[in-house]
Amino acid sequence: MMDQGFGPPYGCWCHRCRDRYESTYARPMPAGAGWDADWARMLEFRYASSESFERDLTEHVRSVDADLTVAFNHHGAPPFSWETGQRPVQHAHIGDFATGECGVWAFGALHASFGALFAEATKPDGHYQMVMQRNVRMYHDMTLRPVADMLWEAATLLAHGAQVTVVDKTPYDGALDPVAYSRIGEMFAETHRNREHFAGRPIREVGLYYSAKTRDQYGRDDPDKYQQAMLGVHKALVYAHIPVGFILDENVTAERLSAFPVVCLPNVAVLAQREVDLLTAYVEDGGALVTTGVTGLYGPLGEELPEGALADLAGVRLIACLDERDVHVALNGECDAARALSADIPTDWPFLVHGQATAYEMTTATPYGRLYRPHRTSGQRAGDQAYHLPLSPDVPIGPAILVNAVGKGTVATVCASPGVAFAGEYRNVEPRLLIRNLIRLLHPEPEVAIDAPTFVESVVTEDAAARLLRVHLIGCITPPQNTGPGRPHSNRVLPSMMEDTPLYRVRVRLRREFRAVQALGPDTVVTRIAGGVEAVVSGIHEALVFSY
Ligand SMILES: [Zn+2]
Repeated sequence: MMDQGFGPPYGCWCHRCRDRYESTYARPMPAGAGWDADWARMLEFRYASSESFERDLTEHVRSVDADLTVAFNHHGAPPFSWETGQRPVQHAHIGDFATGECGVWAFGALHASFGALFAEATKPDGHYQMVMQRNVRMYHDMTLRPVADMLWEAATLLAHGAQVTVVDKTPYDGALDPVAYSRIGEMFAETHRNREHFAGRPIREVGLYYSAKTRDQYGRDDPDKYQQAMLGVHKALVYAHIPVGFILDENVTAERLSAFPVVCLPNVAVLAQREVDLLTAYVEDGGALVTTGVTGLYGPLGEELPEGALADLAGVRLIACLDERDVHVALNGECDAARALSADIPTDWPFLVHGQATAYEMTTATPYGRLYRPHRTSGQRAGDQAYHLPLSPDVPIGPAILVNAVGKGTVATVCASPGVAFAGEYRNVEPRLLIRNLIRLLHPEPEVAIDAPTFVESVVTEDAAARLLRVHLIGCITPPQNTGPGRPHSNRVLPSMMEDTPLYRVRVRLRREFRAVQALGPDTVVTRIAGGVEAVVSGIHEALVFSY
C-alpha cells in the first residue's frame, strides 16, 4: 500500500492491496475511514505494509552496496498523524537512524526542540538526525536565512543530542549559492568550536507521555484534537526551564517511566490495561503522575468509557466530559499547596483554559481550585445561534485539580487542558503557569533550577565520568511581526527571522555542590550566588559548565 500521503484517500484500493487485505483478515477491505473495528484493521494493514515495504527497500539497497546509509523521511511524529501510514516507533528506525524535520515556517520555532526530543524517544540511546533548511519558507524557494536564525536552531538540535542536516537544493542551472554556503559554514564553525560540549546524558524532570493509539482513535480526522495538548505542555515546560523528554506508548517500559521524577499524560485519551499497570507501579514506587483533560476516558476504538481508566489510581469519580471548551479555572491560596499552585496567578479569579475539560468528584483525592462551565446565551441554548467565541464563566462544576497520594507517589488530575489552551487560539499565560506550578509542587527540589527568560531554551546534560554538568542556554529572539498574507480573513501570521544576538540574565542553582563553573562565550559574565550562579549571557548559544 504505497499511496499514503498527507491526506485522502488514505491508501490504495487496487486489486492487489484488496486481495492482500482479504487474505490477511478474511474479510473485504473497508471502503474508507469508518472509525470502527474494520478501520482499525485497515490502519494496522497500512502500518504493516509500510513497514514491510521499507524493510524490503532497505534490504535491497544493502544488497547493492552494504556501505550505503539508508534514511527514510519519517512522518510518524507530530504534527503528522496516522494519514502518513507511519507510527512514531514502528517506522522510525527501519533505516540506519530516525529522521525528523524542523521547518520554522511550517511548524514554529519550538518544533526544533519538540521534534528532536520526540525522535530521540523513538529509540532512547539510538541515533537520529534532525533536518533544518537554509530557506525561510520551503526547501527550494531561493530565500536564505540569516546566520543567527540558523545558529539557534542548529545549537538547539545539537544540545538535545541530534545529528544535524541542512537541506539546500541547487539553483536550476546546478550551481551552488555561495552566500548560502558562507552562512552555513559560519554556523557550523561556531557549533564545531563547542563540539565537545554537545555531549553527556540529559538530566530531565518531566516525561511527556505520547500515545499513538490516542492519536489514531481519539484524534481521528482531527489530529490537533489530541496533539495540541502535547504541544502546549512541551511549550509550557520549555518556557519554565523544566527539562522534558518524551515517553511513547509503543515502547514504554517501567525503566523508561522511572527515568523521570514526573510523568505527564496530556489528554492521553486511550490507555490500554498494560499502560495502566505500568503507570500504577510507577506511582506506587514513588513517581508523580499528572493527567489532564480527557486522559483515560476513551476505549480502544475511541468510544467514551463510563469511568476513567485511571479513576482508582487518581482517587476520582467521573461526573461528565464537558461538551464546551470555553471553561475557566480559579485557584485560591488557602493552604501551602494551594499557594504553590497559584504562584504568579491571581487567586479567586477564573481564567480561561480553552480546551477539553472533565468534571470529577473526589473519592480519596484532595481537591484544589474550581472548574467553571461557561455561560451560554439564550440563542445558543435554543440551538439557533452559532456564536463561536469563548464566553465568560458561569458556575463551578467541580474541582480544578485533584491530588491523590498512592504508595510512595502522587497522582494529580487536572480537570481542564492547560496544554490545549496554551497551544491554542485563545491562550492566556496562566495555563502555562499552572503547569509549571504543579510540576514544582510535585517535584520541589530539582537537580538544577533555572531562572531565565521565556525566549531561552535550556538543556541540562551530565558527563558523570568527567564530573561535569552542562547547562546549555539557547536564545531565540525574533523581532515583532506584521500582519500575515491573507489578513483579515486568514489567521496566518508568519514567524520572523532572528537577526540579533541575545543579551539576558539567568540564575542557575544546583542541588549538588560544585567546585567551579565556566561559560563558553568570552562575553558572558558569571557571578557566584548562594547555591549557584548568576550570569549575564551574551550569545545565541551559551553553556555554563559546572565541575563537581
Ligand atoms: Zn495497491
